[in-house]
Order: sequence, then C-alpha cells, then structure tokens
Amino acid sequence: MNAPADGLRSATVDPAVDWDAVRAEFPLLAREVHGKPLLYFDSANTGQKPAVVIDAVNDFYRHHNANVSRAVHQLGSEATDAYEGARRALARFVNVRHDELVLCSGTTFALNLVAWSWALPRLSAGDVILLTRMEHHANIVPWQLVAARAGATIRVVDLAPDGSLDIDTVRAAMTTEVRLFTFTHVSNVLGTVTPVRALCREARRRGITTVVDGSQALPHRPVDIAALGCDFYAFTGHKMCGPTGTGALWARAEHLAAMEPFMGGGEMIREVSFDGTTYNDGPYRFEAGTPNIAGFVGLGAAVGYLEALGMARVEAREQALLAHLTEELQSIEGLRILGTAPGKAAVVSFLVDGAHAHDLATLLDLEGIAIRSGQHCAHPLLAWLGVAATCRASLAFYNTHEEVERFVAALRKVRMLLA
Ligand code: PLP
Repeated sequence: MNAPADGLRSATVDPAVDWDAVRAEFPLLAREVHGKPLLYFDSANTGQKPAVVIDAVNDFYRHHNANVSRAVHQLGSEATDAYEGARRALARFVNVRHDELVLCSGTTFALNLVAWSWALPRLSAGDVILLTRMEHHANIVPWQLVAARAGATIRVVDLAPDGSLDIDTVRAAMTTEVRLFTFTHVSNVLGTVTPVRALCREARRRGITTVVDGSQALPHRPVDIAALGCDFYAFTGHKMCGPTGTGALWARAEHLAAMEPFMGGGEMIREVSFDGTTYNDGPYRFEAGTPNIAGFVGLGAAVGYLEALGMARVEAREQALLAHLTEELQSIEGLRILGTAPGKAAVVSFLVDGAHAHDLATLLDLEGIAIRSGQHCAHPLLAWLGVAATCRASLAFYNTHEEVERFVAALRKVRMLLA
C-alpha cells in the first residue's frame, strides 16, 4: 500500500469488514445495465448511496417535513433539529466547530463564496491568486471572475511529470504579490494527493491565505481539517454517499465574521428595514433562503454511515483495489496511465493506443460498465497533458476485486473491437 499522504491519518487493513455485505447496502449496485450487472467505476463523478441515506431522506419527507428556523410548531422544530444535527455530524466528521461550517449546495458554491465574499473585497490590482495546473473548473473559473473585477492575475503552479505537486515549485511561485493560494486536496483526474499541511505552512509563513478543494479527499480517507492549517476547506456531499445539492465550506470564525455575504435573502439576516439590514452571525449569514433540508438529513446519515465503517478502513480498501487495478491495467499493451504520483488516490485516468476515450467508454457501457470519458472539468490539465480526453475509472470501497477483473477483461475485449 502507498504511504499515507500529509494531513491524512494512516490506514490499516481490517480483515473483519465483510465488504460484500457493505456493498449489499447500496441498492443501486444490484441493478443491471444493458442486461449485465452494473459495474460502477465513476465514483469520482458522484458516489452511490447506501440504503440508510435513502431511508433518511424518505423518512424526513414522510414524517418531519417543514421549513427550518421559521416555525414554532412541532414539525418546524423537528426539521430544524434534523438540519442542525446534520451540521454537527458533519463538523464532527471533519473535526471542526459546527459554527464554522457553512452548509451549501457543494464545492462549487463553497469556492464561489470564498471568491466573492472573502477575496473580491480584499484583492486589488497587481495581486496574484496562485493555483495549480490540476484544478477542477470549480476552482478556476470563480477566481477568474473575481480577478478580472479586481485587476488581479492568476498564476499557475505546474506539476511534475508524474502529476505530483513539488513543494519547491510552489515555494518559488509564492512571491510577495501572492495573496491567496487555492488548490485541490486530491486531483479528480490524476488522483494526486497534495501535501496540504506543508503547503499551508509555507503559505502561512508568507501571509498567504489558503483555500483547499476537498471534494475528492473526504469521501475516501480520514481528513482532519483542523490539523491541516488551511483558512478555507470546501467539500461536496454527493461524492461521500450523501445526496446531490449538499456540501459545505469550513472557514475560521474570524474569516466568517469579517466576510460580507454575497447573497441576500431570508434566514441570513438579524433585522431588515428599508434603511438597512443587519446580518446573522457565523455560518448563517451565508445561508440565504430555504436550504436543501432533506439533503442534509441524508448527508448526516451518510456521515454516520462512513464513521461506523471507519475512514481508515475505507482508505485501505480503496488502496488495495487501486493496486490491483493498476497492476492489471499495466499488463495491457498500449495502455498509458496518466497520474502516477506516490500515494495517489483510487482515480485512474488512462488512454489506450488507437482507441478514442469516448468510444471505449461507450462500448464499456454496453457491457454494463460505467466509467467517465472526457476532460473531467479540467481543460487546462488535459491541455498540459497534451490529450483531448481520457478514460477515468474511479473506485470506491463498495467496489470489488472481482469487478476489477471483469473491468480489465471487458477493456481487453472492447479494445479488440476498436482495433
Ligand atoms: N472540485 C473537484 C476536485 C471535483 O472533483 C468536483 C466535482 O467533480 C468539484 C470540485 C465540483 O463539485 P460540485 O459539482 O459538487 O460542486
């Protein structure tokens, strides 16, 4: 198994877990696609949901549905308790204070919140926003939008050929004009795990604010946000067994207190008059409007589920599957894996000589196999890699070694069809 990356607790293999039983807790994984058993290798895109999450959402709508914080009636207080309970569960899961966690629709919203509410009022002409070559569009475009308004520029840190992020290269890019460094914890294309703690330490020494995109980290390994030393950490719920339209931004309390909301509406205010408005405290000032209450109830259940399973076990399981998949893929002639950084996560982008990524994915779909093909919302990374598209197989703990074997056999078969 690969060495644990910085900011992550080490994983241990636990033979006591019955992974077949774990898999059986995901109803969708039992279905067929095109007459074949579904093989789902697209968890970096979105994760599948265990019954306990589906049931929690169902139970909320059947028995507790009401709006939060607005009603004094029984249902209103049940809904509020459930929603705030999810905030506390999520905060415990990532080891932060619950009143430092802004609940929102996901990473995209969370990063936009930092860009518009924290960065834009603080950036001026000549300032530099530092980011890496492997960012998802969600961690590029918001910065372009605010940089253009502020007259700031964006500087990109390049990667080593294996897709890793070299700390000396980052250090060299951290000149005095850099105000903010935003980077992914785990790449959704290469699987690279960045040394978050060391990067944040370097940034802090230079007075640079740090923003971490944790979308691909939280679902797959233990993450202790408080230990990372960053200023902001964004994540999304649907990749970690939770419903779509859920996620959060963690920010230090002093940042939240100093930030102006960029979105106004109900719930985020203390008092409104036509002469002016005073805002609510903490995370609530950034949660305008009715939230995805049932979604967060589901996310709370997802977090409970993952905690019971144990994230160290999840990580170890996925590393074992990754090692198996990598070894099998390496035996296919003409297949190239993009992203081989040490300690990488279970995301495997690859190309096969003579076969277009979309054609491979389409033929695999006919075998009941779901992988992603394309640019994975990372156009600048693919341009740097010099490829138009890749196939991406991304694993989760509910996958099996048998699926790895079946996937590789199917890949060999469809490759022959395209030859
Ligand atoms: N960042 C990374 C690394 C991602 O993989 C994704 C989703 O694929 C996102 C950001 C965006 O997440 P969401 O669409 O849930 O906001």
